[in-house]
This record gives sequence, structure tokens and C-alpha cells, in this order.
Amino acid sequence: MSKQGKLIVFSAPSGSGKTTIVKNLLSRDLDLEFSISAASREPRPNEINAKDYHFISLEDFRNKIERDEFVEWEEVYTNNFYGTLKSEIQRIWDSGKHVIFDIDVIGGLNIKKQYPDNTLAIFVQPPSVAELKKRLVGRATETPEKIAMRVAKAEEEIQYAEKFDYTLYNDVLEVAQDEAEQLLIKFLEK
Ligand code: 5GP
Repeated sequence: MSKQGKLIVFSAPSGSGKTTIVKNLLSRDLDLEFSISAASREPRPNEINAKDYHFISLEDFRNKIERDEFVEWEEVYTNNFYGTLKSEIQRIWDSGKHVIFDIDVIGGLNIKKQYPDNTLAIFVQPPSVAELKKRLVGRATETPEKIAMRVAKAEEEIQYAEKFDYTLYNDVLEVAQDEAEQLLIKFLEK
């Protein structure tokens, strides 16, 4: 059996600030490495292949499902598949680091289910659905139709918060970031 490290999952509705929190944690001295998911959607203008996601075609994604290459995968939005490759987790553990995930709620819970003993699953709670919508509009990376889709999904996802090990309230970003770091320090030293 290959060596296992730890897994830290950050899940939240889109626009809750989890990506910012994860990026901040990666810049601290915690021996973390980001799990780069595979995704079948188009990259946004600011995104880089093999850094933000492994952007692959729908066909390629389906082939990988067939070959059982994913720990978990999901069709998050119609025809937009996202998933965690088994090889990605193993690559990070082999390098002696812990894996940190920025994935959707169902995916996060699936990781926890598969690795119950070495996963810390954190749900990032946005202040309100109205605030979330404001942030998505402000980010201006999505069409109004796509924002509406993400807001609807957020309302659904907030129901899952209680299944996580911890709910992190992101009202003031700096406070949430410090709290996240303290949680990780405690979990990683166990
Ligand atoms: P976005 O398109 O905004 O980058 O991501 C859309 C959603 O897919 C987000 O909620 C994101 O967390 C989720 N996601 C990203 N990677 C994965 C993954 O590997 N597995 C699952 N299940 N969801 C993911």
C-alpha cells in the first residue's frame, strides 16, 4: 500500500471566498499542495492549464471515468464535469506533502467518505445568499444566467454544511483566513 498523507477539503458555494482562503493557506509554511482537479469546461481568461485545473475535453473526461481514474467526479453543471484524479493525490503524498482541495460540497463529502481517518473537511459559509450574489456579480467572470445558476446551487449547498467537520464563517476575510490556519495547524500536528 502506498504512503498516505493528510487531506484538507475546503468546500463552499461558488463565490464564498474559499478559493482566496485556500490560496492564502498555500502561501504559509504548512507543507500543503493544491489538488489540481480535472475539468471539462473552458478555461476563464485568467486561468492556466495544469495550474488551476487540468482542462480536458468532455470525451477525455468520459474515458477517464471508464478507466476508473477518479477518486470522485461529478457533473457539477450540465456538461461541466469536475473530478479528482487518483494520480493527483498519490503524486502529492509521494512528495511528502498534504493535499488541499477546493472542490464542491458533494465532492468534498465524497473525499471524506473515502478517507475518513485522515481528512479534515471544512465548509466555508458565506454571510448570506444576497452577499454571495453581489460577490459573483462583482467578479464579473460569469453571465447573468450562469450567476443565477450558481446562486440556486448555493442555496442547495448551504444545507450540507452540518455534514462537514467544521463550518468556517467568512464574514471578514482576514479573520476567516487566520481561523483556517489555526485549524490546519492543529489537524496537521495530530
Ligand atoms: P468553477 O467552475 O467555478 O471553477 O467550479 C465550479 C464548481 O466545481 C466549484 O464548486 C468547484 O469547487 C467544483 N469543483 C472543482 N473541482 C472539483 C472536483 O475535483 N470535484 C468536484 N466534485 N467538484 C469540483
